[in-house]
Amino acid sequence: MHHFKYRQNTLFCEDVSIQDISAKIGTPFYVYSYATLKRHFQVFDAAFEDVSKLICYSAKANTNLTVLKIFADLGCGLDIVSGGELYRGLMAGFSPDRIVYSGVGKRVDEIDYALETGILMFNVESPVELELINRRAGELKKRAPVAIRVNPDVDPKTHAYISTGLAKNKFGIPVDEALHEYLHAKEMENIKIVGVSCHIGSQLTQIDPFIEALRKVKKFVSRLTQEGIQIQYLDLGGGVGITYDDEQPPHPVDYAAAIKAELKDMDCTLILEPGRVITGNAGVLITEVQYTKVNSGGEKEKRFVIVDAAMNDLARPALYSAYHEILPAQEPAENTVQQEVDVVGPICETGDFMARDRMMPEVQPGELLAIMSCGAYGFSMSSTYNSRPKVAEVLVDGDQFRIIRQRESYEDLVRGEDLSTLP
Ligand code: PLP
Repeated sequence: MHHFKYRQNTLFCEDVSIQDISAKIGTPFYVYSYATLKRHFQVFDAAFEDVSKLICYSAKANTNLTVLKIFADLGCGLDIVSGGELYRGLMAGFSPDRIVYSGVGKRVDEIDYALETGILMFNVESPVELELINRRAGELKKRAPVAIRVNPDVDPKTHAYISTGLAKNKFGIPVDEALHEYLHAKEMENIKIVGVSCHIGSQLTQIDPFIEALRKVKKFVSRLTQEGIQIQYLDLGGGVGITYDDEQPPHPVDYAAAIKAELKDMDCTLILEPGRVITGNAGVLITEVQYTKVNSGGEKEKRFVIVDAAMNDLARPALYSAYHEILPAQEPAENTVQQEVDVVGPICETGDFMARDRMMPEVQPGELLAIMSCGAYGFSMSSTYNSRPKVAEVLVDGDQFRIIRQRESYEDLVRGEDLSTLP
């Protein structure tokens, strides 16, 4: 459920027309619906209200400071994977004791920053990292709270690039080897074992893989108990999928019910790290059609709709061949001709497409298109490739909108570059 709907044939975000925003700030831009962000978090949170839990929104999905602040104000915790995300999280007002830190490649400076900040826990992903955290905590006269991220070798049945819980993936420590690491950690002077964590992948559309992973983790936790290691937190990561096209991901209430049924006999606080399910359908990318053209040299005539957003603004189609619904901001009349088109950007890569072989109503230069379901892994994955300044981000709340990130300028593009270093 989201708040992007046609009203009298014009696409609105809540009570603001997309056309109006575009007239004021130009294109392309991301627009997020406050009501949708809030509702998605509250539905997810409420689904777990009868258990001891901490929902840690996964910053990487959408790291805009205002978006983060919305969740901090709703009492959410934060899942981070870098020093930069920690910096943003603190700036947005998250309490350090509600921040968990995952990632296979934490650098020394990032570990130190998290130790100094006093985060809730490090989700440790390798034996070498555990040693390093112990050493740094000693240097800084701290005791590092850790969970070990176990890799349960479960197939999340999602895109290969966002599967993380298979033995062949780089994440976590195989569940069979993790006991050895816990026993080792128990002896470490500057480590405090507080939890076990696990995250098997993103955009999961079935509940079964979550439960399969949870059962393995539960078994592992009882093994830890036998060894005299009590854990306070069981972190099951994120991963609940959303509808981009015709997927039918589990509703948070069903997902929660399945998890809670498994957790009945466990005495610990559940941590979850949802990202996409909270922000994914709460944002769209608005782009303007620049040109249309037909290339007729090949086996089959190809029609292109060339827009002003590109793979640097939204990487998902190029990276994962991801599907995003595309809607004209002005709803076409029912009898408008449908055409099979590729919607492409201006970047010099054939992989620069927003949609391929898509049946769409005929559009003209100057028309606005809304690329749907871009609130997660949209702006946060964007770059300035082809020296394209990053686009603006806008938040709509009722009948008001505000720019929550200015469009970058050409000056922003070259900030930090220094011609004077040449001899
Ligand atoms: N937690 C961890 C450790 C992750 O790596 C990710 C995504 O990559 C998430 C949480 C969030 O996943 P999702 O956005 O699918 O909920």
